[in-house]
Amino acid sequence: MPKTDILIVGSGISGLFFAIKTARKRPDLSICIMTKEKANNTNTQLAQGGIAVVTNQLKDSFEQHIKDTLKSGAGLCDEEIVKMVIQQAPERLEELIELGAIFDKNKEGQWDLGLEGGHSQHRILHHKDSSGLEIEKKLLSIITQTANIELLENHQVIELNTETKRNEVNCTGAFFYDKNNNAIKYIRTRAIVLSTGGCGQLFENTTNPAIATGDGIAMAARAGVEIKDMQYMQFHPTALASGNKNPLFLISEAVRGFGAYIINDEHKRFLFKYDLRGELATRDIVSRAISIEMLETQKKHVYLDCRHLDQADFFKHFPSISAHCNAIGLYPEKDLVPIVPAAHYQCGGIKVDRNGVTTIKNLYAIGECAQTGLHGKNRLASNSLLEALVFAHQASNNIDKTIAAFIFSSKILLPKFSTVNIKNNYEPYQILKKELQKLITSFYTSDERDTHLAMLKIKMLKNEAENLIDKNEITIPFIDFSNMLTTALIIIKQCQPEKEHSY
Ligand SMILES: Cc1cc2nc3c(=O)[nH]c(=O)nc-3n(C[C@H](O)[C@H](O)[C@H](O)COP(=O)(O)OP(=O)(O)OC[C@H]3O[C@@H](n4cnc5c(N)ncnc54)[C@H](O)[C@@H]3O)c2cc1C
Repeated sequence: MPKTDILIVGSGISGLFFAIKTARKRPDLSICIMTKEKANNTNTQLAQGGIAVVTNQLKDSFEQHIKDTLKSGAGLCDEEIVKMVIQQAPERLEELIELGAIFDKNKEGQWDLGLEGGHSQHRILHHKDSSGLEIEKKLLSIITQTANIELLENHQVIELNTETKRNEVNCTGAFFYDKNNNAIKYIRTRAIVLSTGGCGQLFENTTNPAIATGDGIAMAARAGVEIKDMQYMQFHPTALASGNKNPLFLISEAVRGFGAYIINDEHKRFLFKYDLRGELATRDIVSRAISIEMLETQKKHVYLDCRHLDQADFFKHFPSISAHCNAIGLYPEKDLVPIVPAAHYQCGGIKVDRNGVTTIKNLYAIGECAQTGLHGKNRLASNSLLEALVFAHQASNNIDKTIAAFIFSSKILLPKFSTVNIKNNYEPYQILKKELQKLITSFYTSDERDTHLAMLKIKMLKNEAENLIDKNEITIPFIDFSNMLTTALIIIKQCQPEKEHSY
């Protein structure tokens, strides 16, 4: 029966940064990272804009970054957490750079700081328009060279195991599906770190990749852990409108920071009607304004207008975005770029304290799957990669001190799934997934939500999914879909009428 001191679920920025920091501090501990697909298949590698850090105390200040974050979160952030994250940012950035990540500098050799919606200052460090890819690549290259870290790709964690002793619940292991060998197995652990990312795939239009199905939320909820603020899903205003494509390609907020306009079908800028900051208002405001405009004009998208910008400079800053547009016959220097809002970031999640500890002491949650108190109702642009670094650091320091108290459980669990056939036919579930996406999108974006009806429909989808399986088999797509249903149900329940959504 395999065992590891620490199991990390997910290989995005939070899981990898946590693993490296902990492995270096504690070479005596065995650390295993399981990730459900290829290691780089993450939200992290898609991040474009960059990471928000106050680096120039003459022009900018922690106070301003704190104020911007609190304002964006609409009074629902935890101010102490906001301060902690923003004040730690320069140190965490330094560590990331020491690990090899490169960020752009200007001709004067200073950081080439980008501006994004809701920020009162230029403070976004970036690697051209592929900051996440740079970070993911550099962290992964270190992971593979670190002796006490084992990285297992195509290993999908499907259930957490808990045991209760003297009224205290501990997380003692996890069941996982080893896709390489088509087998379900069990691993014993002393602590588990969930870094499973978000749940954008619950929505019809999303910028999130296929892995973002809310697995961490669903598994934690089944283990009895508190989940909070799932009613606050952030929609990004400028996803490239491309019909039914999933995920939608993102046109970074930094493009608006660079001076692009958002215009309607009559080629008029309309955002100033909604907020004095126009294109540079926060994402919730811009997304909502675009949706209203689309509804009023009965159009399927609005446009991003980059035609007035310095094209050489635009290309230098946004080579990947330019290349993507060009590949589909769009040339931002002369064409309007059609855009729609798309589900982008889960502001709520698994409730954690300032050390990333959940309501179970040896279960941690870091990165997008966690609700730390930083984002409130609406995450400030480029605060997410930062949050992932800070909470990975906090959790790593905490686990270093607490792990001694957690020993391996002597219970050797026989995989409860071991006697069944494993099936892997995704096709019928694709149809159900589309129905679920439609349901959650219309429920979430409606001003008159019918919670009861939505819950009933979830139940019907669950029945349909269950009808697709045989008692003696376990179907991996069923597990995926069940996680999506569980997370969807949590969103619906937490979207009670008195709680406003962020769109
Ligand atoms: C297009 C795009 C652009 C963005 N741009 C920015 C930006 O510029 N700045 C910024 O701050 N933020 C940005 N974000 C948000 C940011 O990228 C994410 O919030 C952040 O990268 C999340 O990191 P993470 O470590 O929490 O998880 P992720 O990077 O999402 O990784 C999750 C990992 O968990 C694994 N996983 C999930 N379920 C399981 C399971 N059951 N078993 C095993 N493994 C599992 C996945 O396979 C994956 O490896 C962007 C997001 C997107 C989608």
